[in-house]
Amino acid sequence: MSDGPLARPISAMARAVRAGTVGPSHFVSAALEAIRARDDLNAFLSVLPGPEAGPPPPASSPGQPRTHGVDSPGSSTAAREDGALAGVPIAVKDNLATLDMPTTCASRMLEGYRSPFEATAVRRLRDAGAVIVGKTNLDEFGMGSSTENSARGPTLNPADRERVPGGSSGGSAAAVAAGLVPGALGSDTGGSVRQPAALCGVVGIKPTYGLVSRYGLVAFASSLDQVGTLARTVEDAAALLDAIAGHDPRDSTSQARPRHSFAAAALGGAEGLRVGVPREYLPESLGPEIQRLCQRALDRLRGRGAEILDVSLPNTHLAIPAYYVIAPAEASSNLARFDGVRFGRRAEGSLSPREMYERSRSEGFGVEVKRRIMLGTYALSAGYYDAYYGSAQRARARVAADFGDAFQEMDVLFTPTSPTVAFRIGERVQDPVQMYLSDVFTVTANLAGIPAMSLPIGRSGGLPVGGQIMAPHWGEVSMLRAAGALEAALAEDGT
Ligand code: GLN
Repeated sequence: MSDGPLARPISAMARAVRAGTVGPSHFVSAALEAIRARDDLNAFLSVLPGPEAGPPPPASSPGQPRTHGVDSPGSSTAAREDGALAGVPIAVKDNLATLDMPTTCASRMLEGYRSPFEATAVRRLRDAGAVIVGKTNLDEFGMGSSTENSARGPTLNPADRERVPGGSSGGSAAAVAAGLVPGALGSDTGGSVRQPAALCGVVGIKPTYGLVSRYGLVAFASSLDQVGTLARTVEDAAALLDAIAGHDPRDSTSQARPRHSFAAAALGGAEGLRVGVPREYLPESLGPEIQRLCQRALDRLRGRGAEILDVSLPNTHLAIPAYYVIAPAEASSNLARFDGVRFGRRAEGSLSPREMYERSRSEGFGVEVKRRIMLGTYALSAGYYDAYYGSAQRARARVAADFGDAFQEMDVLFTPTSPTVAFRIGERVQDPVQMYLSDVFTVTANLAGIPAMSLPIGRSGGLPVGGQIMAPHWGEVSMLRAAGALEAALAEDGT
């Protein structure tokens, strides 16, 4: 997608809507049409009814703010036309609560579930004028790296429909890559925004833990989960982050910080930045094409005035084992609420309470979710707690300490986002460990709570390759400066 109304930068779309040079639903209608035309990708689980199907738009009366979008009870989902995202169509991963569409987490357990409240990140997009045009496919409850673990079937990668888009935010990444929406929200517990962004050839940001409220994000592993943004360009992804960042009294882990303009940071240039290259992230086993694209990206950063330095993060090998104890442990606890009574579908028939719980959970959850619940329950069981969870937490602390040391000397780090390009649908389904290794370069940032993002750095065999930039806690500005400069340098190359 290189032309058409949806190819414009997000800021330009909003400006056109605010200025009235296009009607308030100009971009939204274009997105809804594009989404319908690319149904084959299975990127969306629900879509806003189009103007022809929906209720007539509310008439605006003088003195009242003009609004558009769906008008659900109390106009609570109507968007404003004067905001930074006025009239911009945005897709939202289906594990973020919305009022006007179901929130299913791609699970049979939550089929048709409608939340009585909205996620703060969604609310803030609407407050900035964005229109949520649909909910995107994901690995059930965010558990996976390919969007194959969805009760509604896999999403296809727009770059090659026989390949996965990555996961778990694969629907959001595919929707942006196919040009159906200019931006989307995802969630990243171990790489679920960055890895699909890399495999689809778009930009994905996982913010510092605590920068964006998790209120209304269906919890997978609460100490690792962050809401993140996906878009075609660094500036667009940063503009969405500008809209959703900030303290929220409803999430006690969200923090009040001085406000920056992240979108402006994307244009700040890389002059003087010290970029560390952790050698553990460029092992010999990494494909030569990915190595080459990483080296080229580093050359481009150097050309933009950054200093490139070698660095070591010696505890990196502990990250995957630690993550795959901690994340399932927290998931087993978070998913206990889906019991057919408090939340979730209830098995039919007159059953004893125990049978009802068992059947409801057996029918409602898919295999990967069950695997995580069993792993996590075991890791937390009395007698094993210290051997598994305790030692995983100690490993986590060592991974975080490595970053602390590296950021004494470096402003940001550069690594590949994923060890491979998009793999074929079905290729890793039978081998969970192989699937888990897709996250080897991304889980570390979640364990440490630091910000990290992926941006396209070229193609290998026609498939997108992503480069990852990581920064210290609250270092989004340096991260975005590096990413914006790299993107600009590669664009000059014609990449
Ligand atoms: N792929 C990782 C997992 O399956 C990360 C998922 C995520 O970030 N939500 O746990």
